[in-house]
Order: sequence, then structure tokens, then C-alpha cells
Amino acid sequence: MERLTTMPPSHHRPDGRFRNPWDTTEHGLLDVLRWKLGRRDRPRGIDPDPSTFPRGVPEFARPRAERDAISVTWIGHSTLLLQFGGLNILTDPIWSERASPTQRFGPRRVVPAAVDFASLPPIDLVLLSHNHYDHLDDPTIRRLTAAHPAAQWITPLGLAPFVRQRGGAQIAELDWWGELEFRGVRIACTPAQHFSARGLNDRFATLWAGFALESGGRRLYFAGDSGYHPEFTKIGERYGPFDIALMPIGAYDPRWFMRVVHMDPEESVRAFHDLNVRRAPGQRAVMVGIHWGTFKLTDESLDEPPVRARAAWLAAGEPAEDLWILPHGGTRWR
Ligand code: ZN
Ligand code: ZN
Repeated sequence: MERLTTMPPSHHRPDGRFRNPWDTTEHGLLDVLRWKLGRRDRPRGIDPDPSTFPRGVPEFARPRAERDAISVTWIGHSTLLLQFGGLNILTDPIWSERASPTQRFGPRRVVPAAVDFASLPPIDLVLLSHNHYDHLDDPTIRRLTAAHPAAQWITPLGLAPFVRQRGGAQIAELDWWGELEFRGVRIACTPAQHFSARGLNDRFATLWAGFALESGGRRLYFAGDSGYHPEFTKIGERYGPFDIALMPIGAYDPRWFMRVVHMDPEESVRAFHDLNVRRAPGQRAVMVGIHWGTFKLTDESLDEPPVRARAAWLAAGEPAEDLWILPHGGTRWR
């Protein structure tokens, strides 16, 4: 008699932690030193004065938008207020001054959070992509659970306790390809090539992911943080094509160090195409560039990502108006 065994998914490690199934390169502490020390000798982009970054005026609907309307408001970095399927949704919310375990040091905002926390509409859903400090901010989570106690939280595997310990009540954890429905919106957790860590001994202990949303035939994708990997096509086959894809375009240099965990703008455009493999000829799909211009995390200049994203977008033959580079605080509707 043949014994059936269930193979664990390839991103689950036998010790309960997680891994990237397509590229298992890990850069340790020595590589961090190599990067930081070698930086002195390399030519680096010059950062603009962030006060010259354009600011938008948020124009989301209050208290909520129509079910079939989509609005995207860029609060900064990967923090977005999305109005989708009649819900108010926040992604990777951070209102703190620094993306760091302490507010005394660590990467500091160059542009303030572009929507006042107190002026947020009622939040229905919070999507958390992974536990890095620029995406999972302890003080912001506490403020949100206090100010928006009815919100539903969705996290990748292993992050629910973090939110629960900070007051979250309704929390769902999903594995890659896991799905749930919330008030008529279908939400799927999708693979990403990244890693997790907040302390010294918790690398890969919780999962990292993106999210695909569908409601009434409208589709939205939030990539989280990711290197370029082969399964964007599979995500697109299952959940695309997307009306709007929110794609990280910053934090990519130097490539030898960042390539595994962060796409550069050219790769983000390529991933956008993979995500929209099912697009009919002439069907519009918008890409929104996020994860740039807010925290200085890597070597490229703060204003380089949108310049390169635009060039790659046009080189791919996409219409200029379908790449949205929002000003901080800007809203666009589709
Ligand atoms: Zn990250
Ligand atoms: Zn990040």
C-alpha cells in the first residue's frame, strides 16, 4: 500500500520558518558591513531637498467611496489609503518619524505622513505585507487599533500575535495563495521574494507577501516588498489582470546586495507585465510607484526611482498616463 504524505509548500522550512523558494541567497552581517563600508568609495546619487517634492491634496471620499470606484491616496512609502469595493483600506501603515525599533535613531522620514492620522476616514481593513520597520510600525499599530477598533487586519503567517498584542481584535493570517472574503471583497495572499526580521534572531520567522483584491470584477494588487521572481506570472494568471497594481520602485542600490529583496524600476515594470498576462489588447492597467521618496534606505538618490520607472514604462510601450507617480498626499481615481 502506498502511503500518502503531504509535502509542505516549498516556502516553508522544516524548522517552522520560511524561505524564498526561487532564490535562497542570504546576505548576512558581513555583507551589510561590505555595503556600508564600501559606500564611501562609490559614486552616489545626490539627494534632492525633500522640501521640493510636490505635495498633493488628499481627495478621497468620506466616509466611503462607491462600491465600484477605486481611489488611491499615497500617504508615503508603502502606506496607502485605498478605497476599493466600498471599503477603506490601509496598507503597511507607518505614521512614525523613524522606521526603526527606536525613535532615537534609524531611518528618518524626509517627508511627513501626508494624511493626518486624525483625519482618516473609518478604516475597515488593514493589509500588512511583512514585519520590517518601514512596513510594520509598533506605535502606528497601537494608534490604529485604538482609533479604528472595528478594522479587520490581514497578515501573512506569523504576524497575527504582533497585532493582537497591540489591541487588534479581528485578525486573519494567510499563507501564500490563501484567500478569504471580507464584505464582498475577495482577498488573496500572494508570494513575494523578500525576508522578515525585526530583531537579531527572528530572520524568516514570519512570512512576507503581497495581496490581490477583487470586487465586482475590479481588481487591485499590492506587491509589498519583493525582488523579481518567476511567480508574478502565476499571480497574474490567477488574479489578474489588474485595474491598478501598486508596485515598489525604490530601495534597490547596490544591486549585488538588494537584487534578491527589492526590484529596481525596470524589474517592477517587468513584474507589472507578468501580473497582467491576461490583459486583452487595449485593456488599461495602471501601475502606481510606491516605496520611494520617504525613507532613505539605500544608495540610489531619493528622486531616481520615478525617473527610471517612467523611462522603463515608456520603453515597454505603455501609455504615459497609466503610470501613476503620485505626489505625497495625492489621490487618484479609476
Ligand atoms: Zn522589507
Ligand atoms: Zn520596505
